[in-house]
Amino acid sequence: MDATELEKKAILNRYKALYRSCKHFSKEELKFVRKAFNFANNAHKDIRRKSGEPYIFHPIAVAQIVATEIGLDATSVACALLHDVIEDTVAEEEDIRRDFGETVLKIILGLTKISGVFEYESEQAENFRRMLLTMSDDIRVILIKFADRLHNMRTLEHMQPDKRLKIASETLYLYAPLAGRLGLYNIKTEMEDLSFKFTEPEEYSKILSQMRATRFEREKFIQEFIAPLKLELMKTGLNFEIKGRTKSIYSIYRKMQAQNIPFEQVFDLFAIRIIIDIPEPYMREVLNDKQLEEVISAQRQREKDACFKIYNVITSLYHSNPNRLRDWINTPKANGYEALHTTVMSKTGRWVEVQIRTRRMDDIAERGLAAHWKYKEKSQANTFDKIVSDIRNMVAFQQNHNAEDFVNDFKLNFFTDEIYTFTPKGKMLILPKNATVLDFAYEIHGNIGNRCIGAKVNNKLVGRDYPLSNGDQVEILTSDKQQPEEEWINLVKTAKASSMIKDAIKSQKKQIAEKGYDMLVQKLKSLNIEPTHKNLSRMQLYFKINDLAAWNYAIGSGKFPLHLLDEYAKTPDLKKKKIVDSSDNKSISEVVKRLNKDMQTISSTTKNLRFEYAFCCNPIPGDAIVGFYFPEKGIEVHQIKCANAIKLMSHHGNRIVNVKWNEQKEVAFLAGIKINGADRIGIVKDITNVISAEEQINMRSVNIDSNGGIFEGTLMLYIQDTQQLEHLIEKLEKIEGVLSVIRFDTYSMAQ
Ligand code: MN
Repeated sequence: MDATELEKKAILNRYKALYRSCKHFSKEELKFVRKAFNFANNAHKDIRRKSGEPYIFHPIAVAQIVATEIGLDATSVACALLHDVIEDTVAEEEDIRRDFGETVLKIILGLTKISGVFEYESEQAENFRRMLLTMSDDIRVILIKFADRLHNMRTLEHMQPDKRLKIASETLYLYAPLAGRLGLYNIKTEMEDLSFKFTEPEEYSKILSQMRATRFEREKFIQEFIAPLKLELMKTGLNFEIKGRTKSIYSIYRKMQAQNIPFEQVFDLFAIRIIIDIPEPYMREVLNDKQLEEVISAQRQREKDACFKIYNVITSLYHSNPNRLRDWINTPKANGYEALHTTVMSKTGRWVEVQIRTRRMDDIAERGLAAHWKYKEKSQANTFDKIVSDIRNMVAFQQNHNAEDFVNDFKLNFFTDEIYTFTPKGKMLILPKNATVLDFAYEIHGNIGNRCIGAKVNNKLVGRDYPLSNGDQVEILTSDKQQPEEEWINLVKTAKASSMIKDAIKSQKKQIAEKGYDMLVQKLKSLNIEPTHKNLSRMQLYFKINDLAAWNYAIGSGKFPLHLLDEYAKTPDLKKKKIVDSSDNKSISEVVKRLNKDMQTISSTTKNLRFEYAFCCNPIPGDAIVGFYFPEKGIEVHQIKCANAIKLMSHHGNRIVNVKWNEQKEVAFLAGIKINGADRIGIVKDITNVISAEEQINMRSVNIDSNGGIFEGTLMLYIQDTQQLEHLIEKLEKIEGVLSVIRFDTYSMAQ
């Protein structure tokens, strides 16, 4: 067999594996899937992936994920097979419509990226918005997109470094949280781990090897913890399964970052999970809706009883922390998650988290929407319908805003923790954490929000900016004289409120601008100038005004006095001045493409390109870094883990420049250190002595505060690289009384 024959066989084998996973489809459905495969296979013929493999491997793999890992229907599997044909091959929309129908076409269009369209400030944000727009019609779009993204992440090592960063950070910033919000826990976790692996390979492999090194010890502990529990649980007569579940690498990393602790100090590397099997009621199909509802509600009660029974067994065996009982059964999370979580003390004196759920709850928690179809019934359907309808509302509200605002608002609105608040009549409103009185007001109605002057929260009078907490009862106070103000946007957390405020201000502004325009036309008339587009553009250029609406507003609000036009009218011929367009995404992409042909080395001696170090994260040699090209300042260098960098990568992937540190040490970099410990006479001197003893380190500033026997200091130093810094930190830690020394990153405050 020659190479092509072998390849054909490989394609067929993969397709057969997919086909086997679809055995539960009807004959008609299987025929549809086969037709989609044939179409895609033909369209992608002779095209290869970056890895050199035949392109069709990718759609087959995506379809495989769609069928087995997410568990979607035949239409989705067909769409997954066809998802790249419009974007990457000669196939036309018309062909798809003719062969597969309108639904399939619509889903595929939702999955097709717009690219090379430079009129958008951020292509990535625009694509994400577009996908959400289609998703609000058909949820399958986003589920197939997850599968596509997951497979791309699994094969990311074949991409160029800048593309890798772009895709990985976009996944981390948008797709993983969205998967989490829709309850697809497995996919979310894998996406996070893969993103982390590609953005910070060193940190990733460090944690991975630490996990491996401690595995035996961990497993022994779990076994010893489980053994007596198992015995007690068996006495209940319930069918159950106990698992020791290790946390994901990324979640461990997050914990280390958030609490600033080394791996050894992360104590909850795993959780114990108890899954109870309660047979689902059978013969459901013979029941009518009302009967079915009764049967299911009895079943739910049995599940609840079983979970609490197990909880009682655990807490009578191990001492529990009553503050750490999380009852997600009586009040499920917004994404539908149900379980009981408790934290108990092991015999060896270690806190252990135990999660209790039934098989159904476990299925839904791991596979989200997909499993939900299997257990389709009212309450569950409501949770997902609500998420989808929330997304639909959000999309409708934000249609007119630019894509970047949209994505940021979306992120803010959907990926934050929530609080439960109540109206005076007891109606529950779910708001994001840190939402204010003003958010609450807009949640009720736009008119209430616009006229809000404050509220009574639990009968106490508070201002518009008052942050609400769980369980607050809120009565909004309004006044007809009140109007929304621009600063209000900073007071709200929900996208709905900020969007309504923006709209209200926009319409206020529009009225003022209309008045301004009338004034302008009057004035021009008196000067004998026609208000043509050409004349107006020329005047804008003359006065250096970017946009006509803003100008009209300035006139209407008196900020632009019209007598300035008298002088203009006297100016001789201005016709030769050309109107320039400032936004030029296309040339940015071209410059970046040229730059990325090589890895750019950062060096102070490079004269043709300027490098600038981002002050949000102060990268120093040794840090993992990424560059962004801005025509006005050159290349801005960030630490890869910097929150601003992640946002930039996920919005402006076209600006990513591959950069590396110069091997030669030559420049001094600014780094911050935080140091604290027990105060004693002479400690400041000891600290400064250690630093000045280091030859190539210079102090810029030292700030030490002492309070109640504890001192806390911030040092800003000029150093050469991370190695030098780590060396210094080690020395500082050895000073008597010093408790901790950490590198100080401003980015951690920005998060
Ligand atoms: Mn694809």
